Amino acid sequence: MQEDSPVQNENTPDTSQTAPQRTGRRNRLIVLGAAALVALGLGGVAVATSGTDHPAPAAVSLDAQARAEAASRADRSVRESSTPVVPSLSPTPSPSAVSASPAPTKTAAAKAKPKPKPKPKKTTRPTPAWVDPMPGAAVTSCYGQRWGTLHAGIDLALPSGTPIHAAAAGTVTQAGDASDGYGNSVFIDHGNGYLTHYAHQSRIAVTVGQKVKAGQVIGYEGATGDATGPHLHFEVHQGMWNQIDPAPFMRARGVDLGC
Ligand SMILES: [Zn+2]
Repeated sequence: MQEDSPVQNENTPDTSQTAPQRTGRRNRLIVLGAAALVALGLGGVAVATSGTDHPAPAAVSLDAQARAEAASRADRSVRESSTPVVPSLSPTPSPSAVSASPAPTKTAAAKAKPKPKPKPKKTTRPTPAWVDPMPGAAVTSCYGQRWGTLHAGIDLALPSGTPIHAAAAGTVTQAGDASDGYGNSVFIDHGNGYLTHYAHQSRIAVTVGQKVKAGQVIGYEGATGDATGPHLHFEVHQGMWNQIDPAPFMRARGVDLGC
């Protein structure tokens, strides 16, 4: 290693970077270095200028490449923004129709979308003429004889405060506590000879004379009146105070109350 340093010192002015590693290269570099010294002596200025001229066009070409790359990136960004639309379109229509052009289909669908949306909303609301007055409730008592008297309705139990829905559209004929054991109760006349009665409510949300739609919240479950616990006592009257079994009546109208 000590022998390398004096030799390296002789060559350092021209080949300081590659010299210290291998002797074979060092010998070649010595020759190259000598040739370089000769060249510098003959036309050092020319070599120097040409040496500085080479990186200059290289830098210009780099700028040109950078611009070209930037331009290509810009093109890609435009293409990439448009290209994912095509693959996103292709998988959707592919199961139904592969050959069908996705672009016109989607544009046609996009134009047609806003129009059919309001239509189902209009048709969806009036479709269920009769609905469950308290969906998901547990039936705690059905219509029939109970403790020696007629239990004239169906008891539906959920936590107190659960919304009660009008079983069908109609007009509210009674709303309040008549001190008759039903507590806060609501009568709805459906205009077809039948009325529905909702008893023991904790709070009433409608007033007499109000027209309600099927499913509209008319009050909230409670335990007012003669009730041992919070539940909805639901009755169907075929004519006022002529209670019938709500279970077959509602079942015939597509609502299964579970009795
Ligand atoms: Zn009851």
